[in-house]
Amino acid sequence: LYIDAVLDAGSAIALGPEHTHYLRDVLRLGVGAPVHLFNGRDGEWRATITAASKRSLALQVEDRTRAPADEPDLWLCFAPVKKARLDFIAEKATELGVGRLQPVITQRTIVERVNLDRLRANAVEAAEQTERLTVPDVAPPLALAQLLATWPHERHLLVADETGGGRPVAAMLAALDAPARAAPWAVLTGPEGGFAPAELDMIGRLPMAHAVGLGPRILRADTAALAALAVWQAIVGD
Ligand code: SAM
Repeated sequence: LYIDAVLDAGSAIALGPEHTHYLRDVLRLGVGAPVHLFNGRDGEWRATITAASKRSLALQVEDRTRAPADEPDLWLCFAPVKKARLDFIAEKATELGVGRLQPVITQRTIVERVNLDRLRANAVEAAEQTERLTVPDVAPPLALAQLLATWPHERHLLVADETGGGRPVAAMLAALDAPARAAPWAVLTGPEGGFAPAELDMIGRLPMAHAVGLGPRILRADTAALAALAVWQAIVGD
């Protein structure tokens, strides 16, 4: 269970109504039951339910069961899409170890308002489900030009380019040298209508950008994000 609290042996935690409902009514846990907690910083801790009232459960934190784990330094920069597909992107990216979810507004982006709370809630749920001990940062949307202008110079960028301008993704990743494999990375995917040609030119001027193809078919934006992250994990990630 993800909880925004300090986790330390002996500390007491009072759960709010949402967590209480989940543990008591969904998982049917009561006083004496063990619960595993993480806060994104301190690893995983075992706690015990010590008291239950109608609206709240009290927990006592006992000992650490897993040390904090290093996730790969991988961002997903993506043009936001409609709700259910955005939920899918947040969930799959979290499962695949992404450390930052960065919405990017491009020329053809239709969905310009992103519900960051919902994105974060999906990421928290996926982190719990996949047993990772961190939750990706959810960054506020950036315009593509702004993203590129402030790009950290050491971070490589895998650009999903459906126009055929890039190398096949697996070949590009397999040919990387050791420093590039060890560097921080990001994946960039476009909106439903794809990137505009001028945008692809602008992205291509970034020294760390690698345009790649994900196969001969045009994938939906959410599938493209999942496919690019899965291939990156298989070849570069650990
Ligand atoms: N119209 C569909 C939709 O509604 O989702 C297709 C969208 S596709 C143009 C969206 C993005 O997915 C592209 O900008 C690109 O980043 C990525 N993408 C899709 N198919 C791809 C492929 N075969 N190779 C590389 N990137 C791809």
